[in-house]
Amino acid sequence: MSEQDGVIIVGAGLSGLATALGLALRGRRVTVFEAGDLLGGAAAYSGGQVWCGANHVAVREGIEGDTLELAERYVRAIGHSHPELLDEQAFRRWLEVSPDAVRYWEDVGAIRWAVIPGLADYHNEADGAFPEGRYLTNEPIKAAELGEWRDKLRVSPYFPVGTTYAEMFVKGRRLTNVDEAESSPKAGVQAFGLPTRPGGEAAVPDRLTFGTGVVASFLARVIREPGIDLRLEHRVTELLTDEDGAVVGVRAESPAGPVEARGPVVLATSTYDWDPELVQELVGLGPEDFGSVAPRTIRGDGIRLARQVGGAIAQLPATAIPMLPGWPTETGVGYAYGPDYAMPHSMIVDRTGRRYCDDSFWVDIVEKTMDPDDRHLPFFLVFDEQHHRKYGLGATPPGGDYPAGLVTSAPTLQELGEALGIDGEQLAATAAEFSENARKGIDPDFGRGSKEFVKRFAGDPAHEPNAVLGPVEQAPFHGLRLRFVGTAIGTSGVRIDGDGRVLDERGGRVNGLYAVGSCAALTTVGTGYNSGIALGRGLTLAYLVSNELGGTPVD
Ligand SMILES: Cc1cc2nc3c(=O)[nH]c(=O)nc-3n(C[C@H](O)[C@H](O)[C@H](O)COP(=O)(O)OP(=O)(O)OC[C@H]3O[C@@H](n4cnc5c(N)ncnc54)[C@H](O)[C@@H]3O)c2cc1C
Repeated sequence: MSEQDGVIIVGAGLSGLATALGLALRGRRVTVFEAGDLLGGAAAYSGGQVWCGANHVAVREGIEGDTLELAERYVRAIGHSHPELLDEQAFRRWLEVSPDAVRYWEDVGAIRWAVIPGLADYHNEADGAFPEGRYLTNEPIKAAELGEWRDKLRVSPYFPVGTTYAEMFVKGRRLTNVDEAESSPKAGVQAFGLPTRPGGEAAVPDRLTFGTGVVASFLARVIREPGIDLRLEHRVTELLTDEDGAVVGVRAESPAGPVEARGPVVLATSTYDWDPELVQELVGLGPEDFGSVAPRTIRGDGIRLARQVGGAIAQLPATAIPMLPGWPTETGVGYAYGPDYAMPHSMIVDRTGRRYCDDSFWVDIVEKTMDPDDRHLPFFLVFDEQHHRKYGLGATPPGGDYPAGLVTSAPTLQELGEALGIDGEQLAATAAEFSENARKGIDPDFGRGSKEFVKRFAGDPAHEPNAVLGPVEQAPFHGLRLRFVGTAIGTSGVRIDGDGRVLDERGGRVNGLYAVGSCAALTTVGTGYNSGIALGRGLTLAYLVSNELGGTPVD
């Protein structure tokens, strides 16, 4: 390999684009192959929350006191159930390098960071948790900065792109979403009423925020680098190897036919959400219990490509996967997810009609529902007429008609239970107890309403005394069977070391092959997860890999 060799990036989501930029800034030529006809991947659909302990942005905004030591204690505390699944070397590398990476991306003009105001770590009770300052996102960016690439950007159907977090927190996520959708004649087609482009993707608004804005910030910088060749509709299907087994290039399918390119390869393909076989293998769920809110081009290619050349796959328990309760819908990519399940006047039960978890907090929902010794599948969302009138559901505005066949309604909880296949008597008893406590703003059994993150990000700020707790008591009653919806954070994936180098089954390197972002297993954090770690780790790996391949490895 000479200095002049190009590097091949597979996938133009956030970590792929960032790796390309880091390489170009070090003088390497880069070709980015993207399977879809749009850029941005799941990152562009995301909330754009980037988690980083002890970062410079918080200090700039006057939030003092966070340290690497506190951040380390926090991640250890949230992954405590299986400490053996934490890769110590990768964990320390990520934690220590991420503040430098976050600063670097700002210094080179890839993004202007801002702290998401008032957002606490998921597990506010854990050792080392911080009440504000670890979640970063972009300062709003103008779509005009993307020039002719504007129309090639994915736009999130799950967040009100254009609105800032501070603006959204005033009314809460659910009602901000509803207002955005209702202000447009297209309400109910795309979640936030934006006109659609051919293919059904939402059009690009003038001001970009959330994950769409984070990706747009990087893209605006990437397109100023002449050394980066971005190729859409090029799905990489094969890795090329030399006689020693080192990866030396790729083969891709394109509209013009197959193409080949030579050079070291960085996988940035995200997870396996749209590959039912891999979902069964790595999550243990069939299609009746699984969906995804990630783009449909995220279908396990990185895992399959790594396997082709002897790369190992690290499997983490399904109880630790960031999946959320959701349901099939006409909006987005075919599935909807929260915050509806976290709104007041709703609860989650299993077939016995009993609650079994903090049903406003996905971490607890996944852990308990997927417990191999005590599974709670199938699981159901049950809500009352107050929920219907105040919040609606998915693309259904408050008080609107639910899509045909999605929601079952009945005049009593007993009848609702019977119609859904739940023990109706028990369901009524569960709702009575839940309601009595909800009126006081407490949930003594499962702690619903005790997570600051959930109350701020998902709840109804106008609801007293607790933003996520309200009685389920007004007829008619409503319910639907839930399924888990993936968010392109698979946790299981390609095994890498702390610097993004792909490893084989014996722990040796697969030469010439790297992985960044969510196609790489989250052994970095083991079984603990906090929102923003996916994007934050992706940007740190992009920084490390682009330095190594650019000839300036990070010490
Ligand atoms: C609704 C939603 C909200 C989320 N919110 C957050 C959040 O706030 N914070 C957070 O940290 N995480 C969040 N996530 C998760 C996060 O978005 C993903 O984990 C992250 O985007 C993964 O980044 P990536 O760079 O690995 O891949 P992606 O950004 O997903 O991009 C992967 C790209 O690879 C392309 N690709 C796949 N296979 C091939 C192939 N064979 N050849 C060429 N290209 C290929 C895909 O088309 C895609 O464009 C959210 C996800 C969703 C869906």
